[in-house]
Amino acid sequence: MYWSRFHIPTLKEAPADAEVVSHNLMTRAGMIRKLAAGIYTYMPYGWRSINKVANIVRQEMDRIGSNEMVMPTVQPGDLWIESGRWRAYGKELLRFKDRHDRDCCLGPTHEEVVTDVVRGEVRSYRQLPVSLYQIQTKFRDEIRPRFGLMRGREFIMKDAYTFDKDDDGADKSYWDMFHAYEKCFQRSALRFKSVSADSGSIGGSFSHEFMVLADTGEDVVAACKSCNFASNIERAEVKPSGKVADGKNAKPVEEVSTPGAHTVEELTSMMNIPATDLLKTILFVVDGKKVAVLVRGDREVNEVKLKNHFSSVIDLDIMPAEMVEQVTGAPVGFAGPIGLKVDLILADFEAQEKDCWITGGNKADVHLRNVNLERDVPGVIFKDMREITLGDVCPQCGGEIELPRGIEVGHVFKLGTKYSEAMNAKFLDENGKEQFFIMGCYGIGVTRVVAACIEQNHDEKGIIFPPPIAPFEVLIVNLDAESKEAQAECVKLHDLLTAQGLDVLVDDRVERPGVKFNDADLIGVPMQIFVGAKELASGKVEGKDRRSGERVSLSLDKFAADFKAWQTKVYNGWNM
Ligand code: ATP
Ligand code: MG
Repeated sequence: MYWSRFHIPTLKEAPADAEVVSHNLMTRAGMIRKLAAGIYTYMPYGWRSINKVANIVRQEMDRIGSNEMVMPTVQPGDLWIESGRWRAYGKELLRFKDRHDRDCCLGPTHEEVVTDVVRGEVRSYRQLPVSLYQIQTKFRDEIRPRFGLMRGREFIMKDAYTFDKDDDGADKSYWDMFHAYEKCFQRSALRFKSVSADSGSIGGSFSHEFMVLADTGEDVVAACKSCNFASNIERAEVKPSGKVADGKNAKPVEEVSTPGAHTVEELTSMMNIPATDLLKTILFVVDGKKVAVLVRGDREVNEVKLKNHFSSVIDLDIMPAEMVEQVTGAPVGFAGPIGLKVDLILADFEAQEKDCWITGGNKADVHLRNVNLERDVPGVIFKDMREITLGDVCPQCGGEIELPRGIEVGHVFKLGTKYSEAMNAKFLDENGKEQFFIMGCYGIGVTRVVAACIEQNHDEKGIIFPPPIAPFEVLIVNLDAESKEAQAECVKLHDLLTAQGLDVLVDDRVERPGVKFNDADLIGVPMQIFVGAKELASGKVEGKDRRSGERVSLSLDKFAADFKAWQTKVYNGWNM
């Protein structure tokens, strides 16, 4: 390929909305162009990299016997009503009507469609297992699209679905997929961690996310420094300390006047106490139920844990202010557990550690001292309700926890019979009895993988592509574009390396060398070869490893051998 005919519109300036380096560099390297919030055109240079990732994924899917297919992007609302998600999915589902006034949506994921396909085609246990996948455009009307391809509204996902006749089969499908995902991310040269994730009502270890570790990640991983424990912070269990106050220090409840102290900070400074003496009362509405959750003043409620307290939840929201005033009888900021008019009070295990707590008083400008939940709040349920933090111990081995940030690039999930039951998808087992399919669903954010890779591999000059997902593996830069000899040599090298199966780009533009050097580093092709009239005269060209910056001299009379040796060295630097 020749740059003069291949459109890579590089830019000097970053786009104004670029908050992360991958968004900045992908735009400047001409890989993507924004059409609207979270909606991008994949330009030719970017598309090549996306396709490299897609092909790696394809190979690993084929290896475990998953079959590629493509399902429609536009989906009938009826299917979503059947599964129960027309209501449950919320505003991320882009809905519209067709000309016959029928409800439709743009697919954010394909459980409904694939279940519909399989229930129509697979009748007998003999046809199982079935594993299907597609690499396709998804649409999710994200509330905060940002970071370029990292959180788009339109993006490319590889989504796979498995159907098994029994639990053992479903577990095998799950772990096959898990290991295939590890291979995909290793082959894409990502530094990642697989972490256990929230599996909602299914429980067990049947949901894992694959996290690319990067400071710009939107997720937080709780990982143990000593053992292999790693979990999305959303799910990370906090083990109770075992300390339970025995009531010996309990004292009568007293009112304290706290005018204008609505927040933990205001209260702790007014009363001159640490936040650890305080229990805050956070109010939620969970599918119409009024729920209070109590955690220590310096802790945060984990909403996933709250959600998982119930068997199924559609809507979980912070309680609106007017309702807070109704249930507490006080302005917002003074909620407390005593006399609260709610359906359920949950308290984190930590609330058992003391006999006396300071809480809101359910009265304007009043807090209470010496609140003892066991004694004063009938029906309170103690549970793991808070977010793990630094200083907590590993729930597996008691070791020290760290909290790195991560970008979720993949997710594997055992669904069980959730969709097959809702959509009545059954097969006949060995005994001629109808059974629901046991399903799994699995996703890789193909476009997000490219962005995550750039987050991990760049420097101040630009992208540093790992060879397997680089748009081109070799860039030949003609430093004397007007010299016929130099051009002929570039063509020769291009043809030779292309014949070896490499993707080669020749920068044959009539531009100053300085411009070409800068562009070369910006677009990040892993191996750069410079062809100039001066070096040609001495029978040489120069190679530069984009990652290490190391330069080598490649002699033209034994180019194939010199190149091979250099390529091995460059790839070894990438551990591949
Ligand atoms: P997130 O928590 O980041 O929103 P998710 O849990 O909604 O992700 P899944 O439904 O499991 O994601 O989708 C599978 C994969 O698709 C994710 O692991 C991620 O790599 C990718 N993905 C999800 N949402 C987006 C998005 N808005 N833009 C780009 N990729 C996405
Ligand atoms: Mg999401």
